[in-house]
Amino acid sequence: MRDTWVEVDLDAVAANVARLREWAGSELMAVVKADAYGHGAVPVARTALEAGAGWLGVATAAEALSLRAAGIGAPILVLGLVPDGELADLRAAAVAVTAAGVRSLGPKSPGPPLKVHVKVDTGMGRIGVLPERAAALVEAVAGRADLSWEGIFTHFAAADTDPEFTALQTHRFEAVVADLRARGLSCPWVHARNSAAILSGQGTGNLARAGIALYGLDPGGAPGRAQKLRPALAWKCRVAQARWVPAGTSVSYGRTFVADRPVRLLTLPVGYADGYRREWGGRAHVLVRGRRVPVVGRVTMDQTMAAAPAGFEVEAGEEVVLLGRQGDQTVDARELAALSGTIHYEIVTGIRHRVERVYRS
Ligand SMILES: *Cc1c(COP(=O)(O)O)cnc(C)c1O
Repeated sequence: MRDTWVEVDLDAVAANVARLREWAGSELMAVVKADAYGHGAVPVARTALEAGAGWLGVATAAEALSLRAAGIGAPILVLGLVPDGELADLRAAAVAVTAAGVRSLGPKSPGPPLKVHVKVDTGMGRIGVLPERAAALVEAVAGRADLSWEGIFTHFAAADTDPEFTALQTHRFEAVVADLRARGLSCPWVHARNSAAILSGQGTGNLARAGIALYGLDPGGAPGRAQKLRPALAWKCRVAQARWVPAGTSVSYGRTFVADRPVRLLTLPVGYADGYRREWGGRAHVLVRGRRVPVVGRVTMDQTMAAAPAGFEVEAGEEVVLLGRQGDQTVDARELAALSGTIHYEIVTGIRHRVERVYRS
């Protein structure tokens, strides 16, 4: 194995599932798209199902089919729209798809019906049918023998920051569901809540879709509950080379860092091709021997340098935490995200497959 790896604590995932089910007070869908936000879709999916999640959510047909190929038989919903050419495989694998219109469901076909969840766009402005057209779409789906209507859902745009708008989206969605019931159309699954809505007690339905909180990361909007989540991922490496360099030594491309005194230069075997982002050069910290040590000079494709202070004889082979906890120090995904002007979702999903995932439980 390379000297950089990601450790995923599956017990933390299981504990988060239990919390989320309790807070949601409903069935839970574990959202494992994008390789479970970088944590590894198959081990996370298995753990979440064992811990009580009833559903899995993914973004693409390929993600759904790879879960099936791993022997996972639980209900799966593809949350994105899939091209016509991928529907036959999903139908055969009993994977549910999202519909935003009848045209997105392909031509009529024989065989077992394709499971469909109708997506209503109540304010996300991404995919879905507008509320006033939802009933017509549901009637079209429910009226086709080759389709099986099993759910209706919506997605919140700002459950972490805007309770008023979330209440408006909830109201629009509930009105659609009530209208369907009045027309004699009721379906098993009604879902709206993402992680932020689950933690803050917003939204409605008998199923809730948790992504970021499943991994123990704070979705925002409910700090008290977020503190009870357990982060599942740590990214580590071993020092590849450690040596004293004299004052005046410049480090890495562009010579952006010049030592103003002797420093213990640590070369780490990780770079931007692993997802350790270039803009963290000169800004991020790593943890060594329980202390925060600055990253110096530019991050390169495969290697990054850090400078330990005098009196701190770190040796090659010592363990370094790039993201996670060591002793009483933490570098969390939010801290790194802030350095990049982005969100922690992008940091964990951005750790490349070149970095092996190892699992603890
Ligand atoms: C990604 C996604 C989720 C999960 O969102 P989190 O904020 O990570 O909980 C839920 N629903 C849909 C439709 C999504 O695309």
